[in-house]
Amino acid sequence: MLPVHLQNVSKVYTSRRGPVLAVDDITLDIASGELFFLLGPSGCGKTTLLRMLAGFIDPSQGQIFFGPKDVTHLAPERRDAAMVFQNYALWPHMTVFKNVAYGLEVRRVDAAQRRQRVGELLETVRIADRATAKPMELSGGQQQRVALARALAVRPSCLLLDEPLSNLDASLRAAMRWEIRRIVKQAGTTAVYVTHDQAEALAIADRIALMREGKLVQMGSGRELYESPNSRFVAEFLGEANFIAGQVVAEQSGVLKVQTAVGALLARKGLASPSTGQSVTCCIRPEGVRLLSSPGQAEARVQAKLTEWTHLGESARFKVTLSGGIELAGAAMPARATAAVGQELPIYLSAADVTILPQ
Ligand code: ADP
Ligand code: MG
Repeated sequence: MLPVHLQNVSKVYTSRRGPVLAVDDITLDIASGELFFLLGPSGCGKTTLLRMLAGFIDPSQGQIFFGPKDVTHLAPERRDAAMVFQNYALWPHMTVFKNVAYGLEVRRVDAAQRRQRVGELLETVRIADRATAKPMELSGGQQQRVALARALAVRPSCLLLDEPLSNLDASLRAAMRWEIRRIVKQAGTTAVYVTHDQAEALAIADRIALMREGKLVQMGSGRELYESPNSRFVAEFLGEANFIAGQVVAEQSGVLKVQTAVGALLARKGLASPSTGQSVTCCIRPEGVRLLSSPGQAEARVQAKLTEWTHLGESARFKVTLSGGIELAGAAMPARATAAVGQELPIYLSAADVTILPQ
């Protein structure tokens, strides 16, 4: 396993409709052994960046390092990275065992060692009992396990995964993402994982780089990005968010008082450093819109009307309308709620749940 460093990496494609700037001046560091996510909407340049790491695409500008070594223009087979493709790309005529052993054969690893290594890997990915099956005889999740084992066989210093779960159905996706994390951590490899699915990234990433239109917009742990987004785009991409405009009127021991159309709110700064008098946007997650007060917390009480209530089993989603027609989406534990749609009620917004977005 090796750290990965990208220095001012850009990629311009030349298409018939002119140049396309797919990756725009990205600099970032991935730590050794880290499970690092490239997250962003379709077309934002994730696959292009991953393929530059793999060596399938030459950067138009910038440099890529694996550890101290500049691999920018090194052929894929010479840079010690292994890719797991969206469609698995297993060899259909080979058994599971052969698929996993192939890379070792090419590297002339002797037969006894090969058997031992493949045996270990099939145990790791929990498919040892299907060693003699052909890929066609396996489920999607099982094929995914084989693809992971095959990529890990050569002990790559960097494992690259491009939307690895997108061909699986929803329940299997949720189970497999934890499997991928377990397998990657057990192998100890540095891994770069591309997805457009924020839930996948939030669930298992050590860190996430969120991309938009070829640019890196924010990088940090899932929790950091979720709780302290640096823009509306980040806040909305990582889940549902409510926004209320206001003006900072005071600050006391780190808590801001923000005057808004629905009254004064108390807020935390997040990544912003607003001064008194400045216009700001407050970001509130649904779970921050509470129907019950938490005594002892700095919170604002705002009059509201419940307009929607959706029972989801373990939780509920609701909507409230505040004065001036501002609508907020909320989330609650249903067992605690006693309100009925149409009812006037107060909502409570605590300072910890109201985050100022940087300008
Ligand atoms: P993502 O993986 O985030 O969906 P891609 O890296 O595949 O994004 O694509 C980024 C941008 O580059 C898109 O606008 C896409 O249309 C464009 N693009 C990708 N591959 C090529 C190519 N071979 N030639 C021209 N444009 C391309
Ligand atoms: Mg892609």
